[in-house]
Amino acid sequence: MSENQSETHTMSTDTLDAPILVLVDRTPAGAPTSAALGLVSVARRLTAADVVGLVPGDVDTDTSVALAGAGASRLLSADLGGRETVAAVAADAVVAAVGTVSPAVALVGSDYRGKEIAGRAAVRLGSACAADVGDLQVVGNELRVSKLVLSGTWSTTMTVSAQSDSTPVISVHPSAAEAAPVTAGGAELPVEALDVPLTAEAAAVKVISREVADAAAGPDLAEAQRVVVMGRGTDGDLDLVHSLADPLGAAIGATRVACDEGWIERSAQVGQTGAAIAPSLYIGLGVSGAVHHTSGIQGAGTIVAICDDSEAPIFEMADYGIVGDVAQVVPQLVEELARLRG
Ligand SMILES: Cc1cc2nc3c(=O)[nH]c(=O)nc-3n(C[C@H](O)[C@H](O)[C@H](O)COP(=O)(O)OP(=O)(O)OC[C@H]3O[C@@H](n4cnc5c(N)ncnc54)[C@H](O)[C@@H]3O)c2cc1C
Repeated sequence: MSENQSETHTMSTDTLDAPILVLVDRTPAGAPTSAALGLVSVARRLTAADVVGLVPGDVDTDTSVALAGAGASRLLSADLGGRETVAAVAADAVVAAVGTVSPAVALVGSDYRGKEIAGRAAVRLGSACAADVGDLQVVGNELRVSKLVLSGTWSTTMTVSAQSDSTPVISVHPSAAEAAPVTAGGAELPVEALDVPLTAEAAAVKVISREVADAAAGPDLAEAQRVVVMGRGTDGDLDLVHSLADPLGAAIGATRVACDEGWIERSAQVGQTGAAIAPSLYIGLGVSGAVHHTSGIQGAGTIVAICDDSEAPIFEMADYGIVGDVAQVVPQLVEELARLRG
């Protein structure tokens, strides 16, 4: 990979002529996650050849149709014994799929597990790895990937040679899917079974128990289209946060400060050392907008900030800003929402 720095991206219409492999994460109910569908749609934009979905477990009709709608043209089903949550196991599946498909690039999600999968698979393939990539473009026959660095203050662009004989593995930030819409569904795709030989380190991991962290008993943060974030300015008033999040059907996220204070589970943290989210609506309550936090919301659509400090940096990126005390503004918002909904 070579590297240079830039601050803007233009959308290229060039495409690769080699397949792209996408690791498809699934919800607990078995459907592809919206992040996985976004990843497939990104791949579809980048190649004229096959977009190959690597799906852990059986592929039912709904899954196949959803992936086809996002742009997949070929599916591999890997029986991982339900252990795909183990990064080493999923990395083995990516390596096996690369051997079968010979893709130009393999794409995985960019949560903690996805970044570990990308690193492990790239090491095993002897190839390049880029994490948290927010933009992918084909220019000529080259794949260029960009990511925010230095807490979101710079964008760095790297070139991944499409002629390379080792497949690079890239973890893709949810914001990359913005420009690649997913349609409702496509024709059911044939599914090929993929045999995945496990490495000793993957086989050694035994999953004792698995619990989905339920930070605020609401929708899943990574999947949510609406997120209300609890900042220090809420002073730990989770009821206030719920009073706005619940009628909106929004997931509850938090700044690191709110998690450090013990007001909410660590799994709710959004930002550089928390989750990267890409909801269509983000509402920050008493959030100042430190770069460590805002680097996790680059993919958000409409940003609303309610904060009592008119100089807070969150207002520089907010689409709508209200300067005021959350304890006064939120109840008024909730009341107005109820009135509008009749
Ligand atoms: C290496 C590193 C990694 C980090 N990773 C993350 C991360 O992943 N995620 C993250 O969030 N942070 C992260 N941080 C911390 C980050 O730098 C900020 O400290 C944090 O995001 C600030 O949280 P906050 O906005 O809730 O608090 P503050 O910055 O204290 O802001 C609170 C805001 O609320 C306002 N306010 C106070 N009372 C009220 C009220 N009643 N009504 C309305 N507004 C009010 C204040 O004026 C202020 O603007 C990281 C820091 C470091 C060094």
